Formats: sequence, structure tokens, C-alpha cells
Amino acid sequence: MQRIDVGVLGATGMVGQQFALQLANHPWFSLTWLAASERSEGRKYRDAAPWRLPVPIPSDFADRQVDGCVPGRGPKVVFSALDASVAGDIEQAFAAAGHIVVSNARNYRMDAVVPLLVPEVNPDHLALTSRQCAARAWKGAIVTNPNCSTVFLAMVLAALRDFEPRAVVVSTMQAVSGAGYPGVPSLDILGNVVPFISGEEEKMESETKKILGRLAADGIEPHPVAISAHTNRVPVVNGHTETISVGFAVKPPEPEIRSALVKFSGRPQELNLPTAPRQAIEYLDEQNRPQPRLDVDRGSGMTVTVGRLRTCRVLDYKLVALGHNTVRGAAGAAVLNAELMHAEGRL
Ligand code: NAP
Repeated sequence: MQRIDVGVLGATGMVGQQFALQLANHPWFSLTWLAASERSEGRKYRDAAPWRLPVPIPSDFADRQVDGCVPGRGPKVVFSALDASVAGDIEQAFAAAGHIVVSNARNYRMDAVVPLLVPEVNPDHLALTSRQCAARAWKGAIVTNPNCSTVFLAMVLAALRDFEPRAVVVSTMQAVSGAGYPGVPSLDILGNVVPFISGEEEKMESETKKILGRLAADGIEPHPVAISAHTNRVPVVNGHTETISVGFAVKPPEPEIRSALVKFSGRPQELNLPTAPRQAIEYLDEQNRPQPRLDVDRGSGMTVTVGRLRTCRVLDYKLVALGHNTVRGAAGAAVLNAELMHAEGRL
């Protein structure tokens, strides 16, 4: 099979490097173009920014020259790991010029004609891309994946959707890699917890309702669940942990909740997409799991691990969920989105 050429905008950042890793030796995509800011343009990829992942830099890309983020220079399909302060203008310019932008950035996630996609949860929302040409006059398209904490909550609630979740209280313990590089200063985070991440609570509360929402004629009708989020930065390298309490329209028996979590799967598993984990959600029985150090890499970082399901005295049930923030929460999520788009003939 002829592989599809793809590029990465923001290739030198935390998420950009994770993209390079996810796309090295990808069976469907060939990473041929790396782009970043003027600071990196013209430099070799290995020199533009220190490689920060615990596996060697892929030799295919190490000596490639980094380009500027100029529409028309790269291939039709580009992944975006751009800083949000610049992603709005750059992604729009690429979409207008005919590129398909598969983005991690927050800028277009809540746009009425842009899919906020989790392929296991709302693959039908991809239909929004056909409305973008009329609404925005883009020759290409933008598709987004959720905020790195939102995606784990959305997958858990999607697994329980048949029981009609009505109220959710979620508290996060988020890894430092979620803040990009160099991120939070070591003196602020070592031996500490920072109980504020700018904009994160609002994103969890609004994005989850869009993801679980219904595709309607004028956009996505948000899911009625009410969500209250507390977000915290903790001294963990990779992996966002979430404690979740949830109330339902009618309280289901506990074994049914557990069974729905374990059985949860969707289009990526049906289509056997290359980045799809065999198990989208894995339940661990041990009382002290999941833990980031032990469980974050399950399913090559694409599985959401849950545990500690029990009765909640305020809402109906509570549990713990964990996911890899730069894989399922960022680059892996976007690659899975692109795989679904390719499988459905949308690339
Ligand atoms: P990061 O490490 O700070 O990387 C930012 C990237 O943007 C770098 O490649 C940088 O290039 C590029 N950039 C900055 N200004 C630019 C400009 N004016 N023109 C072109 N490129 C520019 O950030 P990150 O953590 O990888 O996050 C990237 C995006 O993904 C953000 O929108 C973030 O919110 C989102 N995200 C991150 C995570 C996570 O867990 N980290 C999860 C989900 C979503 P230079 O190196 O040349 O400056």
C-alpha cells in the first residue's frame, strides 16, 4: 500500500516529539515534513530542540531540516502540536490553503463545525467536516482531539452512556509533561501540588459535553450531564490520574457498571486501526491501582486504565481513571483520528 505523506506543525515540542515517535514506521503514514517556529527553522531536527523521550530519536528524522509553518510547503495532511498562542492563525491558514489539519491545540475544539473527536466515542461527528467548506470557505479541514484530561473522562462516561450519567465531580492529578517544555519550574512542583491549571477545568466541563453530544443539523447538541472539575498539577512525569464520582438517571447495579467499562470498544477496534488499543479501557482489580508509574503505558499509552469502582455516598459510584497525556491525550489521539479519517475515505 502506498503510504500517505504527512507533516507535523510544532514538531519540536513535547507533543511534536511524541508525534515523530508515533509516526516512525507507521504502516499508513509517512512523516516527510517537520515544521516549527522561526527559532527552529533551518536547523536539523536533532539540533532544534533536545530530544526528551526515553527512546532514541528516530534515525529517519534526526538529520532532517526543520521548516517554517508556511501553508503549501508541507504535505496535504498535517498534524498540529502548535502552542495554542499561535495555533489559531496557523491552523486556519493551512485549512484555508487546502491542508487537512489534525490538531491537538485547543483553539478550534469548540467550533460548531469542527469535530472534537474520540474515535471510540463519537466517530459520527466527523461528518461536521463537510460543513466546514460552506461555513468557513476552507478548501481543507480541521479536526481536533480533546484536552488531555478530558479524553479519559469522556471515554469513561461514554462507556456508561446507556445508564444516562447526569452529574459528575472529577479531580485530576496531572503530570508535568502536560505543561509542555520546559513547563512548570522544578522549584514550584517538586514535593508540591499546584491546585490550578489555567483554563483546564472549563475545558473538561465543556469539551466532555460536546464529545458526548448529539450530531444535529446546526452543530453538536451538548450532552446534558453536569460536570464539576478540579484540576491539579502534581510531580509525576507522564500520566494524568482522575478520581471521578458519577450520578445516573437511575442507579444501575455495580456489576453492570464494571461490565460496561470492560466491554467498551468502538470503531477503532472494529476497523483494527493501527494505533487502536485492543482494550480501550482496562479494569484493574488491585485496590491500589491504577498508578501512573505502573500503568501509564498500557496499550502502548492508548488504553485508559480504571479501578477502585465503589459506591459513592453523594453521587452513585466513584472510581479512578488514568491515561497517558502525551499519547492518548495528545499525539496518539490525533494519529488515531487520522487513521479513522483514512479508513472512512476522508483524507
Ligand atoms: P511545547 O512543548 O511548548 O511545544 C510547542 C511547539 O509550538 C514547538 O514545536 C514550538 O516550536 C512551536 N511554536 C511555538 N511558537 C511558534 C510559532 N510562532 N510558529 C510556529 N511554531 C511555534 O508544547 P506541547 O506540550 O508540545 O503542546 C503542544 C500543543 O498540544 C499545545 O497546544 C498544547 O495545549 C496541546 N496539548 C498538549 C498536551 C501535553 O500533554 N503536553 C496534551 C494535549 C494537548 P519551537 O520549538 O521552534 O519554539
